Amino acid sequence: MTVTRFAPSPTGYLHIGGLRTALFSYLWAKKNNGKFLLRIEDTDKARNSKEATEAILKAFDWLGLNHDGVITYQSQRDEIYAKYIKQLLDEGKAYKCYMSKEELTQLRETQMANNERTKYNGKFRDFDGTAPEGIEPVIRIKAPLSGEILVKDGVKGDVSFQAQDILDDFVIARADGAPTYNFVVAIDDHLMGINEVIRGDDHLSNTPKQIVVYEALGFDLPKFYHVPMIHNSAGKKLSKRDGATDVMAYKEMGYTPEALLNFLVRLGWSHGDQEIFSMDEMIHLFDPSDINKSASIYNTEKLDWLNSHYIKNSSNDLLAQLLTGYGLVLSSHDKKEILLDELKKRAKTLKDLADLTKEILTTPSSYDEKALKKAFKGDAVSVLNAFGAKITANDNLHLPSDYHTAMQEIVTELEIGFGKIGQPLRVALLGKMSGPGLDSVMAILGKDETMLRIANAIAANS
Ligand code: GLU
Repeated sequence: MTVTRFAPSPTGYLHIGGLRTALFSYLWAKKNNGKFLLRIEDTDKARNSKEATEAILKAFDWLGLNHDGVITYQSQRDEIYAKYIKQLLDEGKAYKCYMSKEELTQLRETQMANNERTKYNGKFRDFDGTAPEGIEPVIRIKAPLSGEILVKDGVKGDVSFQAQDILDDFVIARADGAPTYNFVVAIDDHLMGINEVIRGDDHLSNTPKQIVVYEALGFDLPKFYHVPMIHNSAGKKLSKRDGATDVMAYKEMGYTPEALLNFLVRLGWSHGDQEIFSMDEMIHLFDPSDINKSASIYNTEKLDWLNSHYIKNSSNDLLAQLLTGYGLVLSSHDKKEILLDELKKRAKTLKDLADLTKEILTTPSSYDEKALKKAFKGDAVSVLNAFGAKITANDNLHLPSDYHTAMQEIVTELEIGFGKIGQPLRVALLGKMSGPGLDSVMAILGKDETMLRIANAIAANS
């Protein structure tokens, strides 16, 4: 069974790069009827926070990416890690190193002065003397001193590392007993039964160290997929300004989970030239072997395009429910359908949709001056008066088409162009020259509010 995982360090919010690898891991597990597990890597007590863990879980909840089983918290597993440290010490695969901080610093400085790679020199690797006093030892693993460590990567192919170039006997437990990152990741992945690891390629350089741990403990290696980074349009690492921000900020900006996930799945993965993927399609089609070898480019226009697609295709009931998050209660509005049918075509984000809705439903308290001047020259007031009289006399105005007919009649009766009624009416109803179709706006507002706005505009121009 395929078991994947997402393993965030709760040092901050969940950002979209992390979310993308989580999505890939989720899709691959679901496709194979496997499991997608969540592990919170909260061993760094100085940098972790409970709030960050909660923020990550909240983001998953919003996106509907449900993990299987219970969450594993590394901070609760000290005993497990201690057991493996002891095992490696007993088997002679790890050892206590008593090198003092000063000596280690000295060693580093000498290596740097000689332009050598800084690494531990193995001083205590085969030590069997009496331990020096006053130094709490760290525990180092016996890493291979030469030869090749091969990462068989599902995205990058075989990546070979030379032991002497990248390894030393790295620390697996600090002087206070705290186990280190690469050590616990390997143990947890094994104990959680993870057999496919999909993560950012910023972790590729950790993988040889983790392989050393797997091998020392006799664990089978998982299959690795290291996913290239997301870049901005200038080909640089994505910055906060480009969108490398908190996933929940996307919610605040009015993006839908469907659009965001669809956007992310296409960053580094494709299926022909298909752009729109439902969750079912993503699960059905995704395969990590198809992940691109090069970095992907973040493109805000694409995200906006996808978001407007999902908004346009959402049911009005769902949209009304989502708009409650923006303080709008539309569920009992008798023209909810007309309003949302008209506005969802125009909104890039839910926030846009909320703003457009508020704009229509709020009686203008002032008018755009330029629009007013342009629309109310000539006999605009008498045209509006004639239109007002026409709709007052008509008790059958319900649909946009009813209002459209009324406007058409005025145009014919007064022998004027459409703009002569359209422009002043638009300014009267919306306070400015732009906005959705007037027939829809009037149908949404109803006759009384339409009349009120016309009267207000006439008063403002008399
Ligand atoms: N905790 C690591 C991070 O947040 C991920 C570790 C992994 O995926 O192996 O970057």
